[in-house]
Amino acid sequence: MQLLKERILKDGIVKPGNVLKVDSFLNHQMDIDLINEIGKEFRKRFPSDKITKILTIEASGIGIACLVAQYFNVPVVFAKKAQSINIDGEVYHSKVESFTHKRVYDVILSKKFLNADDNVLIIDDFLANGCALLGLIELVEEAGASIEGAGIVIEKGMQTGGEIIRSKGIHLESLAIIDSMTDTDLTFRG
Ligand code: 5GP
Repeated sequence: MQLLKERILKDGIVKPGNVLKVDSFLNHQMDIDLINEIGKEFRKRFPSDKITKILTIEASGIGIACLVAQYFNVPVVFAKKAQSINIDGEVYHSKVESFTHKRVYDVILSKKFLNADDNVLIIDDFLANGCALLGLIELVEEAGASIEGAGIVIEKGMQTGGEIIRSKGIHLESLAIIDSMTDTDLTFRG
């Protein structure tokens, strides 16, 4: 998506540890016009009228997913990160290792909001090693629901997540795929 790539080149900042900061337009301050365009692009790439729910993970996925959901007219449900949990049978549960915070979270989702009739589109801001996405996929599988696909705003193609998700046969659409980045140079795939 050209508009997004141009914005990453203009305002993205590469930090040590292979982290791209896009907090001036995507996940701290949010450029609503840009994210609306992102929503329209995901709609084009996932045209199915069978999608019943958009699933994301807190915190930075939520705002993006809500704007995207306007173009699908379905509810957004988000997985919550819990410090520690008692799994009481009322929630689906998986574990996610955070790339940016280097720690493992328990991730939960109330059983009330996802069931076997659902066809889910997963949305997230970044794909790096794939842990967040795999955790969300596990929640959908626990629910017995179907996965329509996963829409990622920025995939870091030099990390393994994209390969892992595509090899599972999941329809993955990333709007910008970064092939390499240093503090002076950033290149995209395609
Ligand atoms: P993964 O689980 O695929 O390794 O990482 C995905 C999650 O880590 C995303 O939900 C995102 O919040 C965070 N993340 C991974 N890489 C980056 C990055 O380069 N920049 C930012 N801002 N977040 C990232």
